[in-house]
Amino acid sequence: MITLSTILGLLPLLAAATNSTLASSGASAALGARACNQIAAVYPNDVFWPQSETFQSESTAIYSDTCILSPSCVFEPSSAADLGSAVKIIKAARSRFAVRAGGHMPVPGAQSVQSGVMISLSKLNTRRLNADKTIASIGPGQVWADVYTWLAPEGLAVNGGRYGTVGVGGLLIGGGISYFSSTKGWGCDTIVGYEVVLADGSVVEARANGEHADLFWALHGGHNNFGIVTRFDTKTFPVTSAYIGGASWDGKDTAFQTQFLSAFESYMAPGGGVDDPSVAISAIIGLTPSTGLTQLTSIQFAPGTDANPQAFENFTTLNAPVIQALPDAVLSSWTALPILLEQLGERGSRQIYSSVSFFPDPRAIRIANETVVELAVPVLSGIPNSTIALTYQPVSKDWLAASKASGHNVLDLNPELGTFIAGLLTVTWTEAADDVAVNLLVERIRRIRGSTRILPSVYA
Ligand SMILES: Cc1cc2nc3c(=O)[nH]c(=O)nc-3n(C[C@H](O)[C@H](O)[C@H](O)COP(=O)(O)OP(=O)(O)OC[C@H]3O[C@@H](n4cnc5c(N)ncnc54)[C@H](O)[C@@H]3O)c2cc1C
Repeated sequence: MITLSTILGLLPLLAAATNSTLASSGASAALGARACNQIAAVYPNDVFWPQSETFQSESTAIYSDTCILSPSCVFEPSSAADLGSAVKIIKAARSRFAVRAGGHMPVPGAQSVQSGVMISLSKLNTRRLNADKTIASIGPGQVWADVYTWLAPEGLAVNGGRYGTVGVGGLLIGGGISYFSSTKGWGCDTIVGYEVVLADGSVVEARANGEHADLFWALHGGHNNFGIVTRFDTKTFPVTSAYIGGASWDGKDTAFQTQFLSAFESYMAPGGGVDDPSVAISAIIGLTPSTGLTQLTSIQFAPGTDANPQAFENFTTLNAPVIQALPDAVLSSWTALPILLEQLGERGSRQIYSSVSFFPDPRAIRIANETVVELAVPVLSGIPNSTIALTYQPVSKDWLAASKASGHNVLDLNPELGTFIAGLLTVTWTEAADDVAVNLLVERIRRIRGSTRILPSVYA
C-alpha cells in the first residue's frame, strides 16, 4: 500500500527538483554532478555526459525548444531495478532530477532539468501480449506509432494517443485523449496494472486489488506525483480498418468560417455526430498572423468499414479551397491516421500549449474563436514565424460514462456534466527573444471571460 510516508518521501525530491530557492545554481550543479558521478559508478554505460553524442541527442529529444535545458548528465536505465537504485542515489545526493518519456509536453521543466539528472526512459520499451492477447504490457519510453504498428498485425489496438510521435509515458499518466475515448474513456481508464518505482527506490506492482490498490487509483490521472511508471498493462480491443477523412481548408472567406463553425456546432448539438460513440473528430482553427493565412481543419475518424459516416455529414459538404486533404476513405489499417499525423508532432520550434474547457454552446464556441483572433493577431503579427491554433476536442457524455464505469480514475468527472469541449490553444514561434510576449498573450487568452458557458479547466 502507498502510505503517507511514501508520498512524503517523494515530496522532498520533488521540491528539490522544482524549488529554485533551495540552492544557488552553483550548489545545484554540484549536487547534480555528485548524483551523476555516483550513478555512473554503478552504471558506467548508462550515464551520458555533456560532451557525448548520446547526451546531445537524448537531452534535446524534446518537442518544444523552450524545454531544452542543461542537465548535469542523462541517465538511461535499462530496467526498473536500475532506475530504483538511481532514485535512491539522487535522493541521498539531494539532486534535482526530471523524467523524460516521449518528450512531448511543451512545459519547461516537465521533462528536463537545469543542473541535475535527466532520466531518459528510452530503453524501457517493453512490448508484450498476455497469453489470450487481452492485455498489452507496454514500456513508457516508446511512442504510440511503435505500439500501434506492433499490435496492428494482430488486429488489435489500445487506448492511446492520436499522434504517432507522442510518448506512452506522459500520455498515460496524465489521462489521455484517444480515438476510442467515447467507448473506452481516457487512455488511463483501460489500464489494469502498473510497474512503478517509488520515492524510496522500491519497485512495486500496482493493481486494482491488493497492497497497492490506492496507488493504482492515484496513477489513473494523478500524473507524475506518485512514482515513475516503468510498465503499463492495458486492455487491447479489436480494430482493423477505419474511415479517415477531413481536410485543411483555406479559411480566408468569412462566410466559410461561419459555415465551418456551424458544421462543428451541429456536430456538437444533441443528436449530432458527438452522440455516436464510435467516432472521433478534432476541429482546428489555425492562424499565421504575419501572412494572414487562416486554416480551418477537421480530422475525422471512425473505425469500421462505413466510407461515409453520417456523424460527419456537415463536414463532408464543406466547400472551400483545400490546402491539405486527408484520405476521405476507409483504409485497411486504422494506424494510418496516427502515422499521417506524425508530421504535426515533429520536434522543433518553440511551442506553448494551454487549455480551456467549455460547453458546446454556439456562443461559447464563437467567443473562444473570436477572443483568440482578437487578442492574438495584433501581438503575433509582429513575431516572426509565429502561428496560433485553437483545437476543439469534443468530450462526449458516453466518454465520461465509460470513464466513470472503469471506476478507477482521480479525474472524477461526472457524466452528468454532459458533453463538453476540451479546447487546446497552441502557439508556435522560433526566437527565444519572443518568449515573454507569447507567454503574456497566452495568459491573457486564458483569462477569457464574458461567457458563463466557459468552464474552469476541467481537463488540461
Ligand atoms: C503534437 C502533440 C500531440 C498530442 N496528442 C495528444 C493526444 O492525442 N491525446 C492526448 O491525451 N494528449 C496529446 N498530447 C499531449 C501529450 O499527451 C502530453 O503532453 C504528454 O504528457 C506527452 O507525453 P510524453 O511522454 O511524450 O512527454 P514527456 O514530456 O516525456 O512527459 C510528460 C510528463 O510526464 C512525465 N512522465 C512521462 N513518463 C512518465 C512515467 N513513466 N512515469 C512518471 N512520469 C512520467 C514527465 O516527467 C513529464 O512531466 C499531444 C501533445 C503534442 C505535442
